[in-house]
Amino acid sequence: MSRALPLVALVGRPNVGKSTLFNRIIGERQAIVAPVAGTTRDRLYAEAEWNGRAFTVVDTGGLDLEDQGEVTVRIRNQVGLALEEADVLVFVTDGLAGVTAADHDVAQLLRATARPVILAVNKTEKQVARLDATEFWALGMGEPCAVSAVHGTGTGDLLDLIAAALPPAEPDDSEDERLHVAFVGRPNVGKSSLLNKLTGQERMVVSGQAGTTRDAVDTVLRYHGEPIVLVDTAGIRRRGRVAPGIEKYSVMRAMRAIERCDVAVLLIDAVDGVTEQDAHIGGYIDEAGKGAIIAVNKWDLIEKDEHTADAFTETLRNELKFLAYAPIVYISALTGQRAIKVIELALQIHETRSLRISTGELNRFTSDLQARHGLTRRGREIKLRYATQVAVSPPSFLFFVNDPALLHFSYRRLIENQLRERFGFEGTPMRLFFREQRRKDED
Ligand code: GDP
Ligand code: GDP
Repeated sequence: MSRALPLVALVGRPNVGKSTLFNRIIGERQAIVAPVAGTTRDRLYAEAEWNGRAFTVVDTGGLDLEDQGEVTVRIRNQVGLALEEADVLVFVTDGLAGVTAADHDVAQLLRATARPVILAVNKTEKQVARLDATEFWALGMGEPCAVSAVHGTGTGDLLDLIAAALPPAEPDDSEDERLHVAFVGRPNVGKSSLLNKLTGQERMVVSGQAGTTRDAVDTVLRYHGEPIVLVDTAGIRRRGRVAPGIEKYSVMRAMRAIERCDVAVLLIDAVDGVTEQDAHIGGYIDEAGKGAIIAVNKWDLIEKDEHTADAFTETLRNELKFLAYAPIVYISALTGQRAIKVIELALQIHETRSLRISTGELNRFTSDLQARHGLTRRGREIKLRYATQVAVSPPSFLFFVNDPALLHFSYRRLIENQLRERFGFEGTPMRLFFREQRRKDED
């Protein structure tokens, strides 16, 4: 299990350059991360690192998925959400436009928080002098930090300030081998109902293990003797106290839970079907490399015939293509129907994720694949020399090939699917890497 990263939120009114700054902050990192197959969604969150500290950055402007309502209300909701979840807030303003009434609005909300707030004045590539003007100081956020997201000037200083404001690193619990499961999904999909159902089940033993602060927010279940940590149960139960306007932005809460889990259970409301927000949360699970289960809840409310589940599955697969490996289970948290299946699947996936395939087996796999599919591209044969598993959780493989440039996306997909078929990697993303290895006598 990986450690939870601190969360840094970019807030501010529209058009000040939040998303440009976001891309700038994650820019270098993104270049070295292998592209995730088939993802075309906007990136709203990304991991970044500065001075050896890793953190997650969120562009709260991008979180406004519904894109409706008055701008002022939307900004307020975004800031409210960031105040709830973020460890550090970066208040982005526009040095070209100067301070506006909306900026004062944001400042007022931010002044109430005990969290560190860093004031960034963007678009200052030409006129840093303007920062001396009292207007940015008048926001009451301390010294403004001049940046240009487009040109990259000042962003190093801004990152220094961010890194310095991060809370102390949380203890690394990668040693903790217990299965950590997160229930994630939009408000009202039934997360707390499922939790209650499971913790109320006879077969489950719930222990309120005190000790670390983590344990206070999690619940530990035992299923046939196996300990299972349900991540952030306190957060799920607390939801009643969150204002409705803010509640719809609970994506950030989901992200935090996902980072701390091994397997995430994405709850979908059977009545509503898949929404954009579901897709965002699902995409985050995939990118984070966690195990995934899609649980379609409130199945009791659906009028069914023998085709209903299949039709639903087809639609789901279409709308959540990047979670093609995730098992789908139709449940009712209300009646308890198949609720236990979620836990059983999570345990299976946890086991699958830690599988290690020997190099011998992998080499038999690659030669079979080669023999059966005889991969060629533009008349040239693709030769898979050998393969080795380089990591678990998620399972990651390195293939040596004569020319990686020949490996079209669809071949990568084929290799992944064949690996899944042969070794049974269900419910987990996989990472495939290809490296060139030519032989002197060839090509
Ligand atoms: P957001 O709505 O806050 O996410 O703002 P965007 O990142 O979409 O940027 C709004 C506009 O400001 C775009 O046209 C950007 O190209 C522009 N912009 C962003 N950063 C800078 C900058 O550093 N300098 C200048 N001159 N323009 C910028
Ligand atoms: P959360 O916000 O995701 O924690 O959702 P809740 O567990 O609070 O559930 C929201 C509402 O949906 C409540 O009124 C629940 O009683 C109802 N609900 C949850 N699961 C089911 C289900 O499987 N079937 C039906 N019919 N209602 C459900």
